[in-house]
Amino acid sequence: MTDLSDVIEGVYLLTVLFFILGLQRMSSPSTARSGIVAAGVAMLIATVVTFLTPGLSNLVWIAAGIAIGGALGFVAAKRVAMTDMPQMVAIYNGMGGGAAAGIAVVELLIGPRFSTTGGLSVAGGLIGAVSFSGSVIAFLKLQGWMRQRPLTYPLQQPTNLIVLGAAIVLGALTVAYSGAFLLPFFLLALGFGLLMTLPIGGADMPVVISLYNALTGIAVAMDGFALGNYAMVVAGTLVGAAGSLLTLVMARAMNRSISNVLFSAFGATEETGVAVQGTMKPIEPDDVAMMLAYAQKVIIAPGYGMAVAQAQHKVKELMDQLEARGVTVKFGIHPVAGRMPGHMNVLLAESGVPYDRLFDREEVNPEFPTADVVLVIGANDVVNPAARRAGSPLQGMPILDVDLAKNVVILKRGQGKGFAGVENELFYKENARILYGDAQETVGKVIQALKQIKD
Ligand code: NDP
Repeated sequence: MTDLSDVIEGVYLLTVLFFILGLQRMSSPSTARSGIVAAGVAMLIATVVTFLTPGLSNLVWIAAGIAIGGALGFVAAKRVAMTDMPQMVAIYNGMGGGAAAGIAVVELLIGPRFSTTGGLSVAGGLIGAVSFSGSVIAFLKLQGWMRQRPLTYPLQQPTNLIVLGAAIVLGALTVAYSGAFLLPFFLLALGFGLLMTLPIGGADMPVVISLYNALTGIAVAMDGFALGNYAMVVAGTLVGAAGSLLTLVMARAMNRSISNVLFSAFGATEETGVAVQGTMKPIEPDDVAMMLAYAQKVIIAPGYGMAVAQAQHKVKELMDQLEARGVTVKFGIHPVAGRMPGHMNVLLAESGVPYDRLFDREEVNPEFPTADVVLVIGANDVVNPAARRAGSPLQGMPILDVDLAKNVVILKRGQGKGFAGVENELFYKENARILYGDAQETVGKVIQALKQIKD
């Protein structure tokens, strides 16, 4: 081992510590930003120090790849709207899977194929390729460039199983016999990722993205073993473990198993459900302001619509106004409100709502019966009482019990359903009123009206 290799190994060890520290800091919203910076800096250092590897060739190609990829990533990340974040994560994650598969291809072409290393490369290649093509489908569905509903056909799961089995056999043949099996192996692996993702609906895509994220991490770790690069092993394992846990947490928050998310084609058919009785009763901003001004406790339940309307800054202003009047304001945050984990927390943190006003589902649910007013701002599925009813597609999903409050005001633009496409019984309840319009505008109007009301 040369001295330079020792230096590289030493620096890798340092970066690994930063990765772990970064991940640990991401566990709380107050330290998450610094955690991301720590992990990003570690990745930069690991990349730079890799250039010192003895005998490294094709430097110009590598530098050009980094420059083009880095520039595209920077511009896209700067421009992306908060509502489009899930598909951006999907495509970036897919690129990671594709890169891991690419490394495996090179290893299988030039490395010792007939060995354990070859086996690891095949495994890394298979998982990376599945993550790549699956993530591309997830991106297309979330971006609206492909129909979001699950695409189903007869014998779908057996077909998928055969494709996966054939890919594994071809991978084994690549290691045992000949590189001639490499191309069909990768084509089948890519095909499996594609086929596996088609029957999954748009609403489940964030869970799938998280799962593919975990797979990308595992593929990178496998490549790391094959290359003897332990920075890749540790970074890949961290991503694999974190992604797997996140996938489980999200599935649990929807009261679904991972196999149900992957194989049940949730959302393939329009919900029939029960016909909801009654009418949706509208309310004007002035009346909402009056209700709020004389309330003692107000709970705000935000959802995807708040992100669409970018209403978080107005919501913070409303909170300030109410608190100045002595009203207690709390936020009830459902774990899958929005379109990605932590979506609401990120938006509210961005607008300056202190963390101690945010309460998760278990904490806030006992408080709803004592709340004078609940403002449901662009949330739908996560407050739908149909989840308590047997036979509903949402059956068993833990919800925010907003319907138990004295008054519920729902801010939404029209008759739109939630992501699951299920009619919401809450909107028709006796204690519910609908404040129609874009949430940013309607919250603004409520703030104006509130200012006119004397203490
Ligand atoms: P939903 O998507 O169920 O509902 C959004 C609501 O916002 C609709 O009622 C819509 O009604 C309203 N809305 C949309 N735009 C605006 C606007 N500009 N102003 C005011 N209202 C608006 O949101 P939820 O947050 O309640 O539920 C999230 C869904 O996503 C769940 O089904 C969850 O399982 C799913 N999901 C979330 C994941 C996550 O990680 N967060 C992961 C996987 C799935 P209208 O059109 O009438 O305005």
